[in-house]
Amino acid sequence: MTEKSKPGKPSKTRKAGKQSRAGKTSAASRTSKKARKPDKPEMPDKTKRPVKVGGREKWGPISIGPVTASPGELTRLELPFSRLATGTWASIPVAVLHGKQPGPRIWVNAVIHGDELNGVPIIRELVHDIDPTRLRGTVVAVPIVNVFGLIKESRYLPDRRDLNRSFPGSARGSMASQLAHLFMTHIVAGSSLGFDLHTGSDGRTNLPQIRCDLEDPVTAEYADVFGAPLNLHSPLRGGSLRAAAGKMGIPVLVYEGGEAFRFNREAFRVGYEGVRRVLERLGMYESGLPPVTNSPARSHASQWVRARRSGLCQLSVRIGARVKQGDRIAVIYDAATRWESVIRARADGMIIGMTRVAIVHRGDAIVHIASID
Ligand SMILES: [Zn+2]
Repeated sequence: MTEKSKPGKPSKTRKAGKQSRAGKTSAASRTSKKARKPDKPEMPDKTKRPVKVGGREKWGPISIGPVTASPGELTRLELPFSRLATGTWASIPVAVLHGKQPGPRIWVNAVIHGDELNGVPIIRELVHDIDPTRLRGTVVAVPIVNVFGLIKESRYLPDRRDLNRSFPGSARGSMASQLAHLFMTHIVAGSSLGFDLHTGSDGRTNLPQIRCDLEDPVTAEYADVFGAPLNLHSPLRGGSLRAAAGKMGIPVLVYEGGEAFRFNREAFRVGYEGVRRVLERLGMYESGLPPVTNSPARSHASQWVRARRSGLCQLSVRIGARVKQGDRIAVIYDAATRWESVIRARADGMIIGMTRVAIVHRGDAIVHIASID
């Protein structure tokens, strides 16, 4: 469905323009044969940017995919990506908060990995709570990028590719590559900052943390303002959204919090408040939140402690705990004998991730420890 609505008062007016047809399902099937292009949704190739008049930007509507968003309004749209085997369209849900006043354009996305859901409620609440008539600039919210992964309850796309190893993608590549390209074209291009919300992978949970380039002073400042318990310096990984946006000079704060398939209240709170605090720092929207009392810990190195033998694993530490070298962090034991193996911290640090599964095999990652700067 393609609709345009004011906050709290959804409008029933639907855009009936030629370009909005591609994203619809039943409506698309009613379009004339001439207008219908089965495998190419009709979308402008370039995002319409505010026009420069006499050196100054005139703040006006922007186009994202098939829809134009007006200043001071919340516009919801569906970015058509691919036909399903059923012949109907699969689309990416997008909400555009286009402020009444000029300002930066940022995006917030979740579910690049189809099973990492904790960012969805963060984005949902942000879109609900930000009033576009009081916003300076534009917030483009994409709660689910990997639509196929979410439906399949999988981290990956149906072709078993990892979307976060497929950026910047290409218009004619694999499904993952085309999805990455669509995201780069319509969401990343023209933005000045992005938030990419993740959780631990299946069977692991992460302490709420920002992963970014702490050597870049601007990014490091945003990370500090975000106010998660930890900022982890993270080298760029080829094919990731952060790497692809970085090549365009656009910093991305990757937020990790909670675990796959589950919602986590603390990871929600830290993520929601963090985005609001950065928006305030950018002069876009007041957060009404108190300043962060404890500045985030910083780390430039982290390591997973792995099981030396298979067995049943009982953890002795909690997420976020500080440990000293030699502290007991877990015990692995046999079900039928008295054999057990105590796992101890090899260095001082903070527990930033851990397994949520009691059955471990030799080599499995058990606890993720960051060395604090
Ligand atoms: Zn992820």
